[in-house]
Amino acid sequence: MTLPALALSNIPFNYASLPEKAVEYVTQSLREGRLAGNGDFTKKCEAFFENEFGVARALLTSSGTHALELSAMLLGVEAGDEVILPSFSFVSTANAFLLRGAKPVFIDVRPDTLNLDETQLARLITPRTKAIVPVHYGGIPCEMDTILKIAAEHGIAVIEDNAHGLFAKYKGKYLGSFGSMAIQSFHETKNFTCGEGGALLIHHPRYQERAEILREKGTDRSKFIMNLVDRYTWQDIGSSYLLSDLLAAVLYSQLEIHEEIQKRRRAIWEYYALHLREWALEAGVEFPRIPASCESSYHIFYLVIPSPEDQPALIEHLKRQGIASAFHFPPLHLSKMGQKFGGKKGDCPVTEDLSERIVRLPLHLGLTEKDLERIVRAVREFPTNNVA
Ligand SMILES: *Cc1c(COP(=O)(O)O)cnc(C)c1O
Repeated sequence: MTLPALALSNIPFNYASLPEKAVEYVTQSLREGRLAGNGDFTKKCEAFFENEFGVARALLTSSGTHALELSAMLLGVEAGDEVILPSFSFVSTANAFLLRGAKPVFIDVRPDTLNLDETQLARLITPRTKAIVPVHYGGIPCEMDTILKIAAEHGIAVIEDNAHGLFAKYKGKYLGSFGSMAIQSFHETKNFTCGEGGALLIHHPRYQERAEILREKGTDRSKFIMNLVDRYTWQDIGSSYLLSDLLAAVLYSQLEIHEEIQKRRRAIWEYYALHLREWALEAGVEFPRIPASCESSYHIFYLVIPSPEDQPALIEHLKRQGIASAFHFPPLHLSKMGQKFGGKKGDCPVTEDLSERIVRLPLHLGLTEKDLERIVRAVREFPTNNVA
């Protein structure tokens, strides 16, 4: 199984390196003329998640965002409800609940893992809190025991936004298998991809039947396909959230070799950690930290540099050497939309500080050994303000 590397003169930040089988499976799908959702490859992917993760039901969706929207509908989130989520996340984590009329309540992150700071949950919970949405940033697990305990004490649902963390583990258990539901993303920028796609992992069987109806435009079409009813009709609200089987074919080609893919990602991550260690110590730069008892999915390798002025400077320095790097997430609570919900400076100080000092390095299977050497050399040449 080959995962082609790139060897370009400019090193891209991201690149979807696909196994040869992807072409074979897509061809098969095209020849058989089955391009809609719920086909053979969709079933194969869903069975894979159900078996591997031990979840009651896995449903492929047209995106991670759509899986989040489904989760919000299934929970019955409505106007006036509050949902606690990290300000340091992608907009979809908030939007999915806003679309149901809920108010986002932004929680700060811990400086060591950049995951939501569970010690602040108690302060933010109100009688209107409907859900907590932990985001496993970069594929490093949130402190799930504490989060689940607090949620259970207050009768609040937990929805894992596991867009980054496929195959990472918290205390020996896969991320995506905690709480009531979890979402995955297969966007081109994620570890496993079909361009655009996602999945909803349902742990509680009570959501299972309704989830299939909502995903199928509010109809019981999936029962019809299984010959359980003789026609399908409008049952509930819903939308069009199925993933095309063509895309499921692309995804399946990677799930089959997930161990090999993760091994390579880990090797790249560890290369950075090993070769930048000394420089980082001297320059006062921080790395991701994987807590003991956890395994990462190695989605992101980031540097937290000492001064905010160095963020654009480092990105520019790397760019001049043909290396793409990136920062993210502008704090959600300070965005135009976040301010409409009362977000203001000082609400999430760790997020505000970190988002101005984080720089992410390329991490994809298109990277060659030479690329890695080049990136490490370029980073080490960057004079940070802290260097004596
Ligand atoms: C990528 C991502 C999503 C969902 O992305 P889609 O592009 O809709 O698949 C959700 N949350 C986080 C944290 C993400 O990074």
